[in-house]
Amino acid sequence: MRAGLWRCAPRLSGREVVVAGGGLAGASCAWQLAERGASVTLVEPRALLGATSQYSTECYRDFFIDSALVPFMSRSVELMETLAGDDNVINLTRRGYCFFAGSDGGKEALERFAVLASDFGAGELRSHKSLEKYLRSPASGFRDPALAGIDLVYGSDNIQQIFPFVTKEAQVMLHARKCGWMDSQGLGQAMLAAASESASATRTLRGRVAAVEKRGEDVAAVRVLRNDGAEELLPCDAFVNCGGAWMSKIQRLVTDEALPLENEVHAKVILNDVKGVIPQSSTPFMVWRDQMMLDWDAETREGLVELDDTAEGGIVNSSSWVGPQPGGQHLRPAGNGRVLMLWEHLHRHMPVEEDPEMPLSCFLDMYPELCLAGLQKMVPGLGSYHGELGRDTLVDGGYYTNTPDQRPLVGSHGARNAFVCGGMGTYGLMGSPAAGELLAKHVMQEELPSYAGACSWPRLVPPPEIVVDLLDDS
Ligand SMILES: Cc1cc2nc3c(=O)[nH]c(=O)nc-3n(C[C@H](O)[C@H](O)[C@H](O)COP(=O)(O)OP(=O)(O)OC[C@H]3O[C@@H](n4cnc5c(N)ncnc54)[C@H](O)[C@@H]3O)c2cc1C
Repeated sequence: MRAGLWRCAPRLSGREVVVAGGGLAGASCAWQLAERGASVTLVEPRALLGATSQYSTECYRDFFIDSALVPFMSRSVELMETLAGDDNVINLTRRGYCFFAGSDGGKEALERFAVLASDFGAGELRSHKSLEKYLRSPASGFRDPALAGIDLVYGSDNIQQIFPFVTKEAQVMLHARKCGWMDSQGLGQAMLAAASESASATRTLRGRVAAVEKRGEDVAAVRVLRNDGAEELLPCDAFVNCGGAWMSKIQRLVTDEALPLENEVHAKVILNDVKGVIPQSSTPFMVWRDQMMLDWDAETREGLVELDDTAEGGIVNSSSWVGPQPGGQHLRPAGNGRVLMLWEHLHRHMPVEEDPEMPLSCFLDMYPELCLAGLQKMVPGLGSYHGELGRDTLVDGGYYTNTPDQRPLVGSHGARNAFVCGGMGTYGLMGSPAAGELLAKHVMQEELPSYAGACSWPRLVPPPEIVVDLLDDS
């Protein structure tokens, strides 16, 4: 497949490209375009990497139940490993993702998922009834080729031997190995440095894209309202929208045709684990899979129902916390005794403004306590923090910008020389390197990789038919 939507464009190298948005997607596009000889202006009103890209959990994984996303993410991991280099400047780890279940339904779901993920390219599936052949995760580094594929570990005793702090109720553990985390600011800085060191020298402009001027079907220039109040008109050969949660808003400057994107609030808790409940050097990314009830006493339950203000348009949906809760609560150690804790479903009902606020300030006051209550099911020791969370417990976050089929949005849209790069929801950090490369191939009319048609809009490769939700009990 070849990019060829604006074949009449006059020149390739030396092409002037304006990129809107200096998050991870914009940094990657700037890097990949500059490497190909384009002259890039990166327009960003905030600090570079200062919006959602600043607040992620910094994790990556290679398993997807989508034959387009597997090669896309493998390429991204390959690019991340190259940027990490011999000195591992982005602190890439390969601790893995561990999913735990205690119910029969959960066990079957993890088994089904492991088989499918392996079939879709996540590597060898190994089952362990004893630990002789199970490889423990290294504290750091990512180069050991054995850290690939998926391990299923059976039995509470085995799980306890590996992770003594995990509940004895856990009967099965799925450990996906080619996964871990990194320093996301380091990744962004490495891409920005590569962009500015390229021969064509990327320029950064502090301001926001405020208008797009067209000549016929093409974007001819981009009008920027600079942070110092002045306006600047940037004539260009191509315009790239990497606006994250603001992508739809920016794209309306180009076309009336809406992008298939929705924003979702997503927040994380940063716990100062002064009691050392979570071992920092051996714990992987951990997720509890089963549904559960939270342990409220009768009085608190009544109070939670009363507290619910959603009928008056509020965001406190506390009456739902007394019913069954989906699994999915997760954590990872973050160094210096800190632990990141998240539970996605708690903020999913919250509306997001057309011009989303940043930094995010609107999330549930009880979010840290709710994350603790959920995660206590997987790590009982976390219960010792109830009512005792230190004032240094922080909550921050940003937005998942999602497409309906959870695939990225990378390709031309709205004009022959206008392009979009984003929509990567939960995986926009790990996906950025490959997304930026794919975008640059579109702009520079290079041969496109197999996954290009799955990322364009409209999709040229239909979305996956099998939808497996690790958290679905039914
Ligand atoms: C709590 C949380 C945890 C996450 N965990 C992970 C994870 O573990 N792994 C993972 O891969 N992903 C994760 N993500 C997702 C990931 O962080 C995002 O997908 C990614 O950072 C999005 O990058 P971006 O560059 O598209 O958007 P952003 O970083 O938001 O960048 C968009 C930029 O566009 C700029 N902009 C807006 N309007 C304009 C304008 N008019 N002109 C110019 N610029 C403009 C904004 O200022 C902003 O800087 C997480 C997200 C959250 C919120």
